[in-house]
Amino acid sequence: STFESLGLSQQITEAVGAIGFETPTAIQQQAIPHLLSGEEDFIGLAQTGTGKTAAFGLPLIQRTDTMLPFIQSLVLAPTRELCLQICRELESFASNQPGLKLLAVYGGADIVRQMKGLERGVHILVATPGRLRDLMRRGKVDFAHLQHVVLDEADEMLNMGFKEEIDDILQSVPENRRTWLFSATMPKEVRRISEDYMENPFELSV
Ligand code: AMP
Repeated sequence: STFESLGLSQQITEAVGAIGFETPTAIQQQAIPHLLSGEEDFIGLAQTGTGKTAAFGLPLIQRTDTMLPFIQSLVLAPTRELCLQICRELESFASNQPGLKLLAVYGGADIVRQMKGLERGVHILVATPGRLRDLMRRGKVDFAHLQHVVLDEADEMLNMGFKEEIDDILQSVPENRRTWLFSATMPKEVRRISEDYMENPFELSV
């Protein structure tokens, strides 16, 4: 199959072609049509290296309305490195959509700069749980129009001790958003997150 046949726009297909992706990977083929419809919560059991970033990133970008100056999607990831990597990859998918604004916020970096980044406007926010909760407590993040929450490497985030932060964050975002969870393994703590915060998720294992 091709990226276009999965329901992706010509604009996104061209950006993906420009970075050299020719054929969608297995998780991309199976997840993208589901996530583009945006009707269901989703669990993807997938390791790093399977192409899961594009599997959630391309639908997030296609579902962003750049005319609306609000955070529409939140991606949570366990580490600063992964946040930056996800943000860069999403930027490459949106390289021909200059109006689409992405920002990564993570611990161990200047919070004032990150607050200024938020003030400039963001459509897709990529964050580590601790720094995001800090920014939320300071009243710097408006999630009133949030439509999608992606939990990337959910098992790793819980292993790193972010359970409380994840609970706080998921309890304070709008209830009628979609939640897409990716994890290499499904220990009971991850299962608990899906039971507490997701509705009839479509589950996929690659
Ligand atoms: P990920 O599992 O998202 O970390 O992706 C692993 C690597 O595969 C990254 O370097 C991606 O840029 C690359 N990649 C993802 N999807 C494709 C694709 N369809 N074709 C070629 N490379 C890809």
